[in-house]
Order: sequence, then structure tokens, then C-alpha cells
Amino acid sequence: MEEVGTGLLDRLDAMQRVAASAPGGPLLIVAGPGTGKTRTLTHRIAYLCAELNVFPEHCLAITFTRRAAEELRHRLDGLLGPVAEAVTVGTFHSLGLSILRENARAAGLPEYFRIADDTERTAARTEAGTDDTAYTKLLRAQDLVDLDELVTLPVSLLRDDPELVERYRDRWRWIFVDEYQDVDAVQYELLRLLSPADGNLCAIGDPDQAIYSFRGADVTYFLRFSQDFTDARLVRLTRNYRSSAPILAAAVQAIAPSSLVRGRRLDPARLDPEAPLVGRYPARSVADEADFVARTVDDLVGGLSHRSMDAGRSDGRTSTVSFSDIAVLYRTDAQAAPVVEALGRAGIPVQKRSHNRLRDRPGVALIARELRHADGLGGSLAARVRLAGQVLAQRFATPTLDAPVGVEPADIWSAVDVLTPLALRCGDDLPLFLAQIATGAEVDALDPRAEAVTLLTLHAAKGLEFPIVFLIGCEDGLLPFRFPGTDPTEDEVAEERRLFFVGLTRAQDRLYVTHAQRRHRHGREYDCRPTPFLDAIDAGLFERFGDSAPRRPKDHQLRLL
Ligand code: ATP
Ligand code: MG
Repeated sequence: MEEVGTGLLDRLDAMQRVAASAPGGPLLIVAGPGTGKTRTLTHRIAYLCAELNVFPEHCLAITFTRRAAEELRHRLDGLLGPVAEAVTVGTFHSLGLSILRENARAAGLPEYFRIADDTERTAARTEAGTDDTAYTKLLRAQDLVDLDELVTLPVSLLRDDPELVERYRDRWRWIFVDEYQDVDAVQYELLRLLSPADGNLCAIGDPDQAIYSFRGADVTYFLRFSQDFTDARLVRLTRNYRSSAPILAAAVQAIAPSSLVRGRRLDPARLDPEAPLVGRYPARSVADEADFVARTVDDLVGGLSHRSMDAGRSDGRTSTVSFSDIAVLYRTDAQAAPVVEALGRAGIPVQKRSHNRLRDRPGVALIARELRHADGLGGSLAARVRLAGQVLAQRFATPTLDAPVGVEPADIWSAVDVLTPLALRCGDDLPLFLAQIATGAEVDALDPRAEAVTLLTLHAAKGLEFPIVFLIGCEDGLLPFRFPGTDPTEDEVAEERRLFFVGLTRAQDRLYVTHAQRRHRHGREYDCRPTPFLDAIDAGLFERFGDSAPRRPKDHQLRLL
């Protein structure tokens, strides 16, 4: 446990300290990537509890993913010790779920309602057609709620019941929301109900990282915070502690053409004159791109494991490279396959996650069902997941097929791998595990300690950081994404640029961007050009390697070191 008391804010810089120790009332922290928003948030909660006698049970912290919630809880434990348990930490979905559990009857739900899984939703949708009421009725008849209702139902409940609103306002007197730039209309309404206009609402975020408008998120809630909440205090953080200076410079230049933050500043805290430039690899093909990733990972982990990778780290530590330090990021899930294959051939372990709902991943809902129905499965939750996987894989291997179309034994095993770390984290709490499957995203099941290269969609990578990042498929049409024959709107291109910015700013020490000359998409092979987003970056920030000149083996490595 870290020292509590006057030293609590010592590990923050001057502006972070201002934010962490600001008095009550609405507070907006606007800050770019890597400026320590999450660090500031945890320290603020700890400071309020330890120094200003705020009760931890009066604090509610809302994060975007469950993984982020776990990380926050972990850091709070470190700062506050066991009392941190009393802080409510969760996502909008888990918050909504707990409000509904506490008020099931008032919300017209049975005590033991459950969140519908994919099969149940599809069945109800097929039967109800486009009739949304009929759809809800069908779910209710089976004691089910739809995932979206986890936020809409609490909103209607609170809207109609001012007394209930007062009860919750009394309970959660201090509310903190991370990634506020990505709240949607319903989540915003829930916040307005939970926090009075002059309440202790602390919103944290970066409009330039708003990347979820396709799910209904609306960055304007962030931009108009000061109008919605009375006398809102604004704090900006501008020092980036995450990325080396060349990586940060490239990212700042990349976002400049569509930055939503007036006078955006991001100053590097890390000033190593020897920091490597951004690696850029123009690949001939998708296979060549994947081979480059595999080769470079292999070189980095094998070749650098005993020497300091970044002598210029601000903390002066030396580090060794392991697979868990490395992430491969991409715009669409389909891009992962060639990389998985190339890494697999090189014997490099991977864990792949997307931002999609966990329960939508093939095999996951089947395993959840098996766990719910089979009482006979003994042992720990993780062991039961494996056993359920075995049962299902065997069942689907023989062609009878009550098996659902398109689900293969390999999907089941992959689902087992994804669910295992989550099962371990849930202890033996089956209802908690099932609720997490129903409400969580694939990325929530990421195991940060796994000795594996992490493969993520750009959307799933939000908020995370890795010493080494490959951003692959930096091509026009893929990033910005475009269906062949269609043109994205200006707003869509701006959002894609923000996504590119999110990707670049995940990297701490080394960043590689790659693009292929040819790519298969939608059943056809296309000639590809590098994304115009790269044009905004000074050529001097890149270290080009590979190119079309014949490559000497490991040539790129010699030059990069
Ligand atoms: P994002 O926008 O990507 O979510 P963030 O603003 O939430 O980024 P954090 O993840 O909190 O940034 O911090 C980025 C990194 O910088 C972390 O490794 C964190 O430990 C480090 N860091 C933050 N503040 C400081 C500080 N004052 N001194 C040293 N390191 C710091
Ligand atoms: Mg963050």
C-alpha cells in the first residue's frame, strides 16, 4: 500500500495536483493521451477520502470498459487500502444493472431477471419482427432484459421517481466519469439524473479521442459540459508521460488537421535524444506485412532481451522486452488473421481481442448456457469453463448438428481461452461471471500479464498503453475506413483520424506503422495507397525500412538500433 497522507499527491505534477485536489462542484479535466488522466482520477478519489474525509461509499467511478474498472479498483486499493472496496467502480452497464437489481419490482422486472444472450435476442427478434414492443414482451415473458435496457430502464425509473433520484444522489455524492468524450445520450441522461447541476461531478476525457459515434456516442456532451453544469471548473493537463518524443510529435501532427481542442498542447515529459524514430514499413502484400510483424517481434524479444531498450526513460529504469510488451493494432477484425498466422508460424503466442460484445463472440454464449444448465460440472469456475468447452467441442466435432451454423470446435477453444482469465478474476461467483459475459466487451477479458503479443482493434485499444506498438493496415480505404464504392463524410473521416491518433498514442517506446500495396477486401484484391493521415506527419520523424529495395536479412534492425 502506498503512503497515505501529505505524500499522497507527491507523485503528480503541478497541474495533475490541481486537478486531484480541486474542491467539490462540477470539474472537467480535458487532457490528451498519456497525460495521466487515470492516474489523476485515482489520486483524486484517494485524496478526497484520505484528506477531506469523503466517505468512500459516497464515491462512484464510471469507466468505459470493465477492464478499465478493474485497473482503477486495483490502483485505488494500492492508494487507500481495504477501504477502497467501498468505492463503487463500474461501467454504465454494470451501474445500470445494480440499479435495476435494487429496484427490480419498481422497474417491472422479476427478482431474478437475466440479460438475454445472443440466441435469445435473435429468437425474440425473429418472432417480433420490427415491432419493438412485442420484442420486449417476448423477452419479459422469459424474465430477460436486453443489454441496452440496462441503461434505458434505470433512466425511465429515475425520471418517474424523484424520491429515488434523491436516494441515489445521497448515496453517490461524488461521481467520476472517465472517457467522458464517448458518453451517449442515454448515459448522459443517467448522469444528469444522478448528479445535480452543481453536483460533485468530475468528467475526464479528450475530445480528440472520441471514437464511438457509430455506437451513438456524442462528443458534444463533453464540449458543452460548462453549459450543463453550474460553475464548472476546467483543468487541462498537457504533459505526456507515455510516449517518446518522436512518437508524440508524430501523433500531435497527425491529429492537428481535425483537433477538437482549441490550442491543443502536448509536451513530452520524455526527452531522450536517442529515442528511435517511428518505423514505417511499406509492405508488398498483406502476407509481407504480417511477416514483417512476426520477424520484428522475434528480433525484439530475442535480440533485445538483455539490453536496455530505452536508456532515456524518465524513470531511469532499464527494461527487457517480453511478448506482453507488444501490441498489434488494426482498424478491422479481419486484419488480424494473417498476423495471427504469421506469429503462430514463428511460435509467438498471441491474445486477440476486439471491442465487440463478449457474448457475440462465437462460442461464448454456448459456454455460458452450458454453465447455467449443467449442475454436474464441478471444480473451479475456470475448470468448469474448460470442461464446458470440451463437452461442446466434442458435440460439434460429430456432424449431428444441433450445433449452430458457423460455430466450429476451434471457436469453442478460442472462446475458452478468452473466458478463462475472466473466470479466474470472478473467483467462483457464477452469477457475476455470467453478468460480465452479458455486459462486457471482448477486451474486458484481456489478460495484461499473459506472456503473449496482444492483438486489438483500434477501438478496443482505447485507454491502454504498450511499450511497443505496430499499427498495421495504414491504408486509404481501411483507415479511413470506406466500403468500396462509397465515400465517408467529413465527420466520418475526422473520426477515423481520431482513431488513428488513438492508435499512435498507445505506444510508449517504439511505434511501427505499416501499409500494404495490395489487399483482399470484400472478395476482391485491391491496389492500396498509404493513408493520407500519414501525410500530416513530418517525413523526418520516420525511419523507413524494407521499401522496395532488396532487403538484407535483419537490415531494418541494424538501422533501428
Ligand atoms: P489515455 O488518454 O490514453 O487514456 P491517460 O491520460 O489516461 O491516457 P494514463 O494512462 O493515466 O494517461 O497515464 C499514462 C502513463 O503516464 C502511465 O504509464 C502513467 O503511469 C504515466 N504517468 C502519468 N502521470 C505521471 C507522472 N506525474 N509522473 C510519471 N509518470 C506519469
Ligand atoms: Mg485513460
